[in-house]
Amino acid sequence: MKKILFIILAIVFSVFSFATEIKNVILFIGDGMGENHVVATSFLEKKELNMLKANFFGYIQTHSLNNEVTDSAAAATALATGYKTNNGMIGMLPNGEVIPNLAEILSKNGYKTGIVVTCRVTHATPAGFYGHVASRDEESKLAKQLVDSNLTVVFGGGVNYFKDLEEDLKFNRFDYLKTKQEMISYVGKKGKKVIGLFNDDHLHPVTQRPSEEPFLPEMTQKAIEILSKDGGPFFLMVEGSQIDTRSHENNLDGVLKEVLEFDESIGIALEFAEKNPDTLVLVTADHETGGLILNVSGLNLSTKRGLSTPLGGSQTVDLETMKTFQSRLAKVIYSSSDIEELKTNIEQSFEVTLTPEEMNYIESSQDKQSAVFEVIVGKANCAAKWSTTEHTDELVPVFAFGPGAEKFSKILDNTDVPKIILELLEIEVSSSSLIKTH
Ligand SMILES: [Zn+2]
Repeated sequence: MKKILFIILAIVFSVFSFATEIKNVILFIGDGMGENHVVATSFLEKKELNMLKANFFGYIQTHSLNNEVTDSAAAATALATGYKTNNGMIGMLPNGEVIPNLAEILSKNGYKTGIVVTCRVTHATPAGFYGHVASRDEESKLAKQLVDSNLTVVFGGGVNYFKDLEEDLKFNRFDYLKTKQEMISYVGKKGKKVIGLFNDDHLHPVTQRPSEEPFLPEMTQKAIEILSKDGGPFFLMVEGSQIDTRSHENNLDGVLKEVLEFDESIGIALEFAEKNPDTLVLVTADHETGGLILNVSGLNLSTKRGLSTPLGGSQTVDLETMKTFQSRLAKVIYSSSDIEELKTNIEQSFEVTLTPEEMNYIESSQDKQSAVFEVIVGKANCAAKWSTTEHTDELVPVFAFGPGAEKFSKILDNTDVPKIILELLEIEVSSSSLIKTH
């Protein structure tokens, strides 16, 4: 029997040490990404997702001020300002009061700020971090507000709304990039801001993106590089904008690919956070879209051995089950001293039978945990189905990494997210910062 050296690196559940102070905050928003979008991607793409490696996770409720089911405008306002407003409104209360958002507040406190999206930068979610309009359709007005904002980095689509603003962009110290190649070679300059718009409208879906348009992980990487360059604190919001679009289309494969792209961007942020442990990385969603349901059968996913659901019956997989499954998997790998023992342990623990080909695949893989995950998840029968083409009022997950992450390990309201961020950063916002517009 051949001894296998199982790399402890495989156990990735507690990679980040806790620093007491927080300097940087990176907030990921998966538009329309409910719990089942995450779990379905992990199961159907047979991949342990970066976001599922969080030590702490919770759920947030998403209703808006005037509707049990929110839209992205009211949800972005809640996540960015800590205030509920009516659907369709951005950075503004129903009575017209303008409310400051995280990017504005942090910028006043010496932070560099940025937004990175795969939709038009004037779309609802990014607009929540610079805009103040009564209707999300006022995108020309939003474009002007963006140009006048203090954002240091803006990457996404939406050239059409900036055609008449090129002079204003220059005046407001923005370098203007139009292709992926320009972005890759761009070096941040002191005192300069940068906007990169890579499509007239939204970027192409991730599966059809042409070579001159960047992928979300590339934009995230460049944004972090620019924002962290001079060593000062920064705030970055990154949106997986088209998870929502594919969910409205009930296009499951499209959703999986958009979630994967989003998750790879999270991986980029986690790499940065590993080297800079004073970075809080949060991953959440503005609302769920599609009422996605996932059933899994053929694999024992139960949280305790001996209490398994009959394999013939299907199981719904929530985040708790998913995380328990992943940690059981890590334990099985860690406690097996050779490949024969690993086979026996997997078969007993998950009630599956492994073929010689599958064992060869696992044995020859560098990353044992990923290989075992891929093989055993591949044995499950997964059925995902949509309930609607609209948004739903389901709770959405929030995953947290780094200092203060434990604060997100419960059921929260979407308005709590920016409040907790500001509390952790010890920044107080007085109610006098509300500005009456009429
Ligand atoms: Zn939507």
